[in-house]
Amino acid sequence: MAIHLEERLASNLSDLERAHLRIRLTVLDSPQEPVVIIGGRRLINLSSNNYLGFCSHPDLKRASIEAVEKWGVGAGAVRTIAGTFALHEELEERLARFKNVEATLVLQSGFATNQAVINTVTREGDVIFSDELNHASIIDGCRLSKARTVRWAHKDMGALEDALEKNPTDGVALVITDGVFSMDGDIAPLPRIVEVARRYGAVVMVDDAHASGVLGKNGKGSVNHHGLDGRVAIQVGTLSKAWGAMGGYAAGSRNLREALINAARPFLFSTSHPPAVTASLIAALELVERSPELMERLWANTRKFKAAISAAGLDTMGSETPITPILIGEADAAFEFSRRLRTRGVFAGALGFPTVPRGKARIRTIITAAHTDAMLDQAVSAIGAVAKELKLAA
Ligand SMILES: *Cc1c(COP(=O)(O)O)cnc(C)c1O
Repeated sequence: MAIHLEERLASNLSDLERAHLRIRLTVLDSPQEPVVIIGGRRLINLSSNNYLGFCSHPDLKRASIEAVEKWGVGAGAVRTIAGTFALHEELEERLARFKNVEATLVLQSGFATNQAVINTVTREGDVIFSDELNHASIIDGCRLSKARTVRWAHKDMGALEDALEKNPTDGVALVITDGVFSMDGDIAPLPRIVEVARRYGAVVMVDDAHASGVLGKNGKGSVNHHGLDGRVAIQVGTLSKAWGAMGGYAAGSRNLREALINAARPFLFSTSHPPAVTASLIAALELVERSPELMERLWANTRKFKAAISAAGLDTMGSETPITPILIGEADAAFEFSRRLRTRGVFAGALGFPTVPRGKARIRTIITAAHTDAMLDQAVSAIGAVAKELKLAA
């Protein structure tokens, strides 16, 4: 007799419960803004990826509403059959100009984009070289590919070189890295990765989910930030974080775009974005190009917050970006820290094993351009007070 499914689900959940790993959803009763309402209380929000405050920006909302009026609510088909509207093409052309590449293709999400791209550009006999801290969607993309995957130690150029040396291929060698790593907020050494890859004839792919809209001129991303325009074959990223709506993009050659249109299963077999999503993304691109002050504000806020957290005697783990982890140590303490922050009016989640290594549990905060000085001051004072209560800082 086969096992009863409900029994298995219940037993898995109680295992997670015992290990303090069970996830429960936090429900927002307000838009995604620097102050959110949760459980009837107003909390300063340090938990979103809403870097530029675009999730509820009036320009994006207006574009979205106008698109609903003009184009309706649903795309009604996959892109390759009847689901490509003029709006979709317009976004892709603008994005290509913004990213300084020949062409882009927009997919439903950043997650879908990694599944699409890795599987389309590799086949049996190829080798993928992946930083060990790359995002789950890259890991799953590699699993779907028939190519072999070799992981290299985080940001370790000796390890990358060693991996390339020991795993030669007559096919494609594809080196993949996040542009900014989502747990530590550190930046990939892209110029050195490009240099090592060049020596082995390898192709570089960077995932700019946390870098697009954050690094580079007007938020053009890691490649622009490092002065590597034209030297990274494949840029992917999300339109769901800094860009405020939803989606993923692949940016590179015209052939890359055409290959994806012809082979990428998430593109071929899943309905395209509703017009409102696409229109709000076009508005987002227009907005960053005419509002450099957004990027300045994001970075000024980031510097101010990091300096204050360090001055409070806490460890931000070498973060170089608006993603600012605060090292706590044990997972229990990190979860307790997060609970106490909430009672003091601050929403900042804790991360423990297996999301991050054992002993490296942390509070992960993300600073945005939309936070005011007063909000940052209040958040810092709450964090300092909880750190004292828990004897993590003097
Ligand atoms: C968030 C993230 C994604 C997924 O993007 P979505 O648009 O949310 O699906 C992919 N890659 C990296 C590195 C990410 O941080």
